[in-house]
Amino acid sequence: MSSEKSIQEIYKSYVATGSVKKFMNDIKAQGIQENDPRLSQIAELTKEREQKEKKVDYENFARRSTPCCGLMKKFSERQFVIPNFEKFTKTIEDLYWRIKPNTTGKNAAYIPQLASIPDYWGISICTVDGQRFQIGDTGNGFSIQSCCKPLNYAIACEYLTSDVVHKFIGQEPSGRMFNEMVLDHNNQPHNPMINSGAIATASLIYTLIDGDQRRSMADKFDMVKTWMERAGGNERFGFNNSIYLSEKEVADRNFALGYFMKENKVFPEKTNMLESLDFYFQLCSIETSAETFSVVASTFANGGVCPLTDEKIFSVDTCRDVLSLMHSCGLYDYSGQFSFNVGLPAKSGVSGVIMLVIPNLAGIVCYSPKLDQHGNSVRGIQFCEELLKTYAIHPYDNLRHTLARRSIYEDK
Ligand code: GLN
Repeated sequence: MSSEKSIQEIYKSYVATGSVKKFMNDIKAQGIQENDPRLSQIAELTKEREQKEKKVDYENFARRSTPCCGLMKKFSERQFVIPNFEKFTKTIEDLYWRIKPNTTGKNAAYIPQLASIPDYWGISICTVDGQRFQIGDTGNGFSIQSCCKPLNYAIACEYLTSDVVHKFIGQEPSGRMFNEMVLDHNNQPHNPMINSGAIATASLIYTLIDGDQRRSMADKFDMVKTWMERAGGNERFGFNNSIYLSEKEVADRNFALGYFMKENKVFPEKTNMLESLDFYFQLCSIETSAETFSVVASTFANGGVCPLTDEKIFSVDTCRDVLSLMHSCGLYDYSGQFSFNVGLPAKSGVSGVIMLVIPNLAGIVCYSPKLDQHGNSVRGIQFCEELLKTYAIHPYDNLRHTLARRSIYEDK
């Protein structure tokens, strides 16, 4: 069916019979939120209609549907990537409640401001079609911490190319803690997903992008934050100043890492190591919520195109590189075990966030501040591992010869 035909069908079955609102409710049941930017013009129509009780003619409806014709087509053909969204979200809800009583683990205490954060628990999902679901504490703000690493790496690759970035940083898992004082056999950080590699990435963004016409740190900070916001469908990103100050005050290990890397000539020429370190702390203190961050994760799942705005944020190659490194190195010294159990790219941060990407399907963000001994959210890891016991989404699952778990795509 052409998208024009879909719009006609929707008009016939909803609008002509008097109910734009019913259309909004039905599309909502399939996971498309009322505040989805693609639906903004139709949502306006609902409001106008409520106020003035005027009849909506076809031309008006078609005009307002044009910017979201792809969405309209998928809706009318029931072609969303998760066809039975209600059933899927019921499964997620069950997992949420099953995992909630698990209060093991401890908040990261080495950043004092993180130590006192309450025992939040939330899960947010955004599919590559922009179907969204939230349960629990998904609107609460948290500092993204190490979850800035894949984004910074992606931004560095977009500006400088992955080849240039990897002249300074490797691609191997370190098998060690995230802040370990260790470099690889080339005297370079093992990968961009641990502190050494992320400090080096921050220095590349700060020092190399724009060459000698280097923008101020304030401009560079805005630049990175804007990229994040675009990847998150233009939703809210802030800055948590007390977390930033708290981290900076006790950052002996990261300062030590900075000097260690400087001694080993890890940084590009003209790097101001202390400023780069400061820039890294700032990027770790960018604040968002699970709801918004799940949109960022879905942008990575969607080959770099934000599902809510259809804007191309990262190239397909950048996305592939980010996801490869998240897969092999995203969870520090639990990465091997996680890849064995789950097989999907994920990234954690010491604030208790875990971003899981199911390529071509969805981004999922779990938020729960209590961490295990590796620095990963206990509930977040449990969720990912239990999800895999429910759905056959490990890349090496074989759907033809298994009856044990369901296919997420055919959950009718
Ligand atoms: N800002 C934290 C640090 O540099 C990030 C670490 C993390 O989230 N694992 O130590």
